[in-house]
Amino acid sequence: MALDMTSLVSLCKRRGFIFQSSEIYGGINSCWDYGPLGVELKNNIKRLWWQAMINREDIEGIDASILMHPKVWEASGHIAGFTDPLVDCKKCKHRFRPDLIQEKKCPDCGGPLTEPRLFNLMFKTFMGPVEDESSIVYLRPETAQGIYVNFLNVQSTLRHKIPFGIAQIGKAFRNEITPGNFIFRTREFEQMEMQYFVKPGTDEEWFEHWKEERLKWHKALGLNPKKLQFHEHGADELAHYAKKAFDVQYEFPFGWQEIEGIHNRTDFDLSRHQASSGKTLQYFDEATKEKYIPYVIETSVGCDRTLLACLIDAYHEEVVEGEERSVLRFHPKLAPIKVAFFPLMKKPELQELTHKLQEETRPYFLTRYDEAGSIGRRYRRQDEVGTPFCVTVDFDSLKDQAVTVRDRDSMKQDRIALTQLLDYLRKKIEG
Ligand code: ATP
Repeated sequence: MALDMTSLVSLCKRRGFIFQSSEIYGGINSCWDYGPLGVELKNNIKRLWWQAMINREDIEGIDASILMHPKVWEASGHIAGFTDPLVDCKKCKHRFRPDLIQEKKCPDCGGPLTEPRLFNLMFKTFMGPVEDESSIVYLRPETAQGIYVNFLNVQSTLRHKIPFGIAQIGKAFRNEITPGNFIFRTREFEQMEMQYFVKPGTDEEWFEHWKEERLKWHKALGLNPKKLQFHEHGADELAHYAKKAFDVQYEFPFGWQEIEGIHNRTDFDLSRHQASSGKTLQYFDEATKEKYIPYVIETSVGCDRTLLACLIDAYHEEVVEGEERSVLRFHPKLAPIKVAFFPLMKKPELQELTHKLQEETRPYFLTRYDEAGSIGRRYRRQDEVGTPFCVTVDFDSLKDQAVTVRDRDSMKQDRIALTQLLDYLRKKIEG
């Protein structure tokens, strides 16, 4: 059965994953705030990506600024080419993408529409006190350009030989005409991008390599492999900079959609920056004494879209022992809370031991304590936010020095000795 997005959006709000931005003012279109559990989930995704990228010899990380010299966007082609066609309703002034409407009349009020006009997707603002043409700056629409302009800084300071890559996680902004589907398409979002610099002629091989690596990463997040596929861009879909492009798509309830793009950007960006800045961006190969502008294989994944795919994939509603439960079956590495600790009853001797066990576990995992309501209700609360393990301290624990550990997915309970508890949890969670 296809997941009803409304149930997911409501769970996200109810349990502190995602709130509408500026909600008390009625919200602002397409902007969302991550709550306490959402930010944990997001940090876990970012950490797993960062580890996969940086924990190797040939990739370095950077964190470039969002505002860049406006010439960057001229050279990159974003000022001229980063556009969508738009029509305006002459009556109600609403805007639409002509490819998404059936008739030549406004879908909202039936009014007449203007001819299509190109609309640039970059957000503009002004730098400094004077608001004129010369002070226009843009909020970056992709993090990639911060990497290209730093290509030689990183290569020369860390003495890298080609091939090598630069990775970055950061916010990007696009004034999308048709945002929607919760956090799927928003105007402010986070990208995790890695640009891999290779010798021209080896680019096709590296493209294949990164394409496969990236699919493996999504599978390792625990996403259902049947809901992941590649989609190759046809000539009409290729971005202005790309020689070849594949999307990793996930089957969302609203159809197969891109979560990551893998692009062969050739030497387009570096050549353009070299021409525009007048500074050489050539790489010098000491061994062969060759000088060349490398080709770039880009892997660009949306953090928010990946998070949405993880939420959708994990969300299950089921009936257990005659009671309905909703459960987020996150991979333990992704789960915001890893272990919940419960005293069976609000008795000081049980509370004390529960706190002690929690303190011992705290340095390793994010944990939570809960003593409110029946054990069954406490399990349901943790199931709903995807906590993989619940530890209950009961009266027997005081005698047998053991606790009950309950598994979210199988709902099986194991009796574990206190001395073994930390090892048991670490094995299950860290693998
Ligand atoms: P789409 O066709 O869906 O607009 P795109 O092809 O423009 O996406 P890219 O420029 O390849 O996207 O960006 C790389 C990744 O950044 C995408 O795969 C997606 O995960 C993420 N991304 C791009 N635009 C948005 C957005 N408006 N909201 C959320 N994530 C986005």
